[in-house]
Amino acid sequence: MKKYIVIGAGMSGLATANLLQERGNEVVVYEREDRPGGMIKCDIVEGSLFHRTGGHIFNTKRQDVMDWFWKHFDREKEFTKALRNSAVFFGENLTVPYPVENHVYCFDDETQRSFVRDLLQIVAEKKEPRNFEEFLKSRFGETLYRLYFQPYNYKVWRRDLTKIPLSWLEGKLPMPTVEEMIYNNMNRVEERQFVHASFYYPKKGGSQFLADRLAKHLTVKYDTAVHRIERSGDRLSVNGEACDRVVFCGNVKMLPGLLRMDSFVKDIEALEAHGTTSVFCEIGKNPFSWVYLPERVHDAHRIICTGNFAESNNVPGKMTATVEFTDYISREDIGAQLGRIAFHPEYLAHHYEEYTYPIQDKDTRSLIAALKSRLAEGGIYLVGRFAEWEYCNMDIAIGSAMDLVNEIE
Ligand SMILES: Cc1cc2nc3c(=O)[nH]c(=O)nc-3n(C[C@H](O)[C@H](O)[C@H](O)COP(=O)(O)OP(=O)(O)OC[C@H]3O[C@@H](n4cnc5c(N)ncnc54)[C@H](O)[C@@H]3O)c2cc1C
Repeated sequence: MKKYIVIGAGMSGLATANLLQERGNEVVVYEREDRPGGMIKCDIVEGSLFHRTGGHIFNTKRQDVMDWFWKHFDREKEFTKALRNSAVFFGENLTVPYPVENHVYCFDDETQRSFVRDLLQIVAEKKEPRNFEEFLKSRFGETLYRLYFQPYNYKVWRRDLTKIPLSWLEGKLPMPTVEEMIYNNMNRVEERQFVHASFYYPKKGGSQFLADRLAKHLTVKYDTAVHRIERSGDRLSVNGEACDRVVFCGNVKMLPGLLRMDSFVKDIEALEAHGTTSVFCEIGKNPFSWVYLPERVHDAHRIICTGNFAESNNVPGKMTATVEFTDYISREDIGAQLGRIAFHPEYLAHHYEEYTYPIQDKDTRSLIAALKSRLAEGGIYLVGRFAEWEYCNMDIAIGSAMDLVNEIE
């Protein structure tokens, strides 16, 4: 049995700590906030549930992650099944079901013809994309790129899409073939016919429920920010508490300060990220789960209709949603922006999270790999979205915790 200190009680830290404890280790978690969850924290605002960042739902392609997750929850009693029904809004008169490439028949005649020409060109050229822009064009064609993929992704990433490398994409975006797009359009295949058309969502508490449950049997020191990690003999200490190993699940940018490091510092400082402003609103009743907003008239890129995920997310008779903006937006600008959005959102609350979207360049993965291997020699490990600088969902974070524990235990 070893003693581990896990830093951070977000999903990565909670998964790591549980997995280590399940193997019989002594585990203490340090969390600077007063409750678990990190980015998946939720608040109750005027009786309705506000996902402070995004609108978290759980899903995974990894069977081991799925099995581990459901060991901690009672799917039938504690979860409800919600349907995906997403749409892309192109102004007041055109709503196209998601994903757009399966519903090109909803556009005007000229757009449809242009899309067909694009598909023929994609087949003829078979280009190997070198960056995100080339990927989107070579997969979906110039027409959909111009109408949807470019404006939408520019809002999320706030940069020239040619500057975004392809490595982060792996397994994260649907990769339909030309044949599939033609078939889906001809047959009007809808999102609900796909495997992930529905998802399980907590009956009460949203993703905060997940965090609270996973923290329940752990020793977590809340309101305790880690400010120092030191080596003393063959042991480590965190804020003066001795342990054998440390798993760091916070932001890698803090590590040089915590460890008094003098290598990797400049490269870590250069890592870039975006933040997110999530605006919680009361909104008109609608059938959607996610609404995407590619139009330039909106600074927001999507509405997450969390009120449709579970009945208990709203006070009776009301419907709530989160409108999402990349980076910081002032309260005044929020007011102006909400006035342009469908379903008449009315402001209830908002939250700005500084680190939400890590941006990778071509060297990020090798930098993190080198850092991990150097730290591992001293018994310090990295798991998590900003510890590993990976654009990962909760399931990937859990998977990363599993892979680490399998490797070191
Ligand atoms: C807009 C948006 C929508 C998303 N939607 C989904 C979704 O629908 N489904 C999904 O699966 N995933 C989704 N994700 C991804 C998901 O949020 C992350 O994968 C997950 O929350 C990462 O957890 P983490 O523990 O790595 O990081 P975090 O949640 O950031 O946790 C880090 C924790 O460490 C603590 N900490 C940091 N430094 C210290 C310190 N020095 N001392 C003590 N504590 C410290 C922090 O307080 C925090 O609690 C979304 C992400 C975003 C940004």
